[in-house]
Amino acid sequence: MKICNTIADMRAACRAARSGGKRLGFVPTMGALHDGHLSLVRAARSSCEVVAASIFVNPTQFGPTEDFAKYPRAFERDCDMLEIEGVALLFAPSVEEMYPAGAVTWVTVEGLSDKLDGRSRPGHFRGVTTVVAKLFHIVAPDAAFFGQKDAAQVAIVRRMVRDLNLPVEIVACPIVREADGLAMSSRNAYLDPQQRQQALVLHRALMRVKKSWEGGERDAKKLGAEGREEFAAEKAVRLDYFEIVNPDTLDAANGAGAGALVAVAAFVGPTRLIDNILL
Ligand code: AMP
Repeated sequence: MKICNTIADMRAACRAARSGGKRLGFVPTMGALHDGHLSLVRAARSSCEVVAASIFVNPTQFGPTEDFAKYPRAFERDCDMLEIEGVALLFAPSVEEMYPAGAVTWVTVEGLSDKLDGRSRPGHFRGVTTVVAKLFHIVAPDAAFFGQKDAAQVAIVRRMVRDLNLPVEIVACPIVREADGLAMSSRNAYLDPQQRQQALVLHRALMRVKKSWEGGERDAKKLGAEGREEFAAEKAVRLDYFEIVNPDTLDAANGAGAGALVAVAAFVGPTRLIDNILL
């Protein structure tokens, strides 16, 4: 696996990798990798001849009181994991390389960026779309692989790609979970054993809604209320949002038809976790 720290190096390596018409797949990450990330690499490998990944803890998507400084970093271990999975190129730039002094240009997907996580994390999605647009320009992949775990991110990146005519296919991959249902996340490392148990309420609430929906309930308000009720019983966890929305527009769904997105975010202690299901 070739590791590139500069934009010029990565650009040249990606150009060479694509030579002869090879299909290049790209998996952007913030590192501290787990099986969720590796599932994206595997999906990329299954449909692309060459796979590139990035590890960049992107400061512009963190709010001033969020966990940028303490976000888990495990670079050596991440490299080993990516190499074993067959990643050919890894981009691991510094913050200065990605954001030279004086950078003032942003990519904003208006409207969508203020919904779900964007409502409680102002500026978060502007940081995401700006860095993803930059990464797409550097790597120029044929396809980029994102986790459905970050459902709002998928919707927003898809809209950006459509609106800006970026020549990349966006592939969303299913959520990878621990055996007990907790969605894998780099932030799970913050949880102590008690919080790890409490965190299961996210999955429990989603499963309750799914069961009710499978039993025929289609009233989004009622389904949402059922999900929130699970949280009322788990006092240690503070609910941020529990919403049933259209997965493309992120607008509240009136009726919960097939394909509606049930999305949840909650604080377990200081740790903010997200999860979702598609009905
Ligand atoms: P992150 O490093 O948290 O920015 O995540 C990088 C990519 O991995 C994003 O596209 C995430 O949606 C995806 N991802 C994170 N956790 C999971 C998971 N449990 N299952 C599937 N994809 C995931």
